[in-house]
Amino acid sequence: MNHIENKSRIDPELRDEMAKQNIFITSLDFIYNWGRRSSVWPMQFGLACCAIEMIAAAAARYDIARFGAELFRASPRQADLMIVAGTVTKKMTPNVVRLYNQMAEPKYVLAMGACAISGGPFIDGYNVLRGIDRFIPVDVYVPGCPPRPEALLYGLMELQKKIDSQTFTKAEWYQKGLKREFPVPELGPNGLIPKFNPEIWQPREQDARKTRYGQTVLTGKKQKAPRLEPVAVPPPPAA
Ligand code: SF4
Repeated sequence: MNHIENKSRIDPELRDEMAKQNIFITSLDFIYNWGRRSSVWPMQFGLACCAIEMIAAAAARYDIARFGAELFRASPRQADLMIVAGTVTKKMTPNVVRLYNQMAEPKYVLAMGACAISGGPFIDGYNVLRGIDRFIPVDVYVPGCPPRPEALLYGLMELQKKIDSQTFTKAEWYQKGLKREFPVPELGPNGLIPKFNPEIWQPREQDARKTRYGQTVLTGKKQKAPRLEPVAVPPPPAA
């Protein structure tokens, strides 16, 4: 994830000096971002085994409340963050996109686990989406199968860095003409229609697996097992 540091224009020495006199000066950006980064409310939904780790992150041992992110909201209207935790099946994809569209701005997406990022162990499954970023923009990717709760918290901290880097005047959700609602795909007899949203995702020109594993993986052709000839075992050396 790329982000730029949001540097305050206030001289830090001057700020420290004034703080000694009980005068606190800051920028509007700092206050605005501090409030948002300290209350990132995730949406309450999980898709597969990764969701168990997400639930663990919210339990007492890991204490996601340290970040102000413990309020998992049952409504997308009240959530700031969509944690896509688990395998996204093609049947589920329209609902995930619809939920994203229903979230109010500013909104963020965290793809948790190999399945949400790329399809994971089910990448070749006929019914599994190969990454939720084919339909909605993802801000933070947390790899793993499953990622541990610490990894999710690290992803949350990365998201906080991104929030810190945003400025009040240039925040994208205040710009005119910004499109933050995406078309909801339909599940047809042969999968999703369309297969991806070309506005936010384009397939690679060449599939890396083709060069790595050869044609057989992609075409799915069955190979004949090689005929194994018995190998003559040399006699042991004489003592
Ligand atoms: S990444 Fe692994 S743990 Fe997470 S949903 Fe997929 S299979 Fe389950």
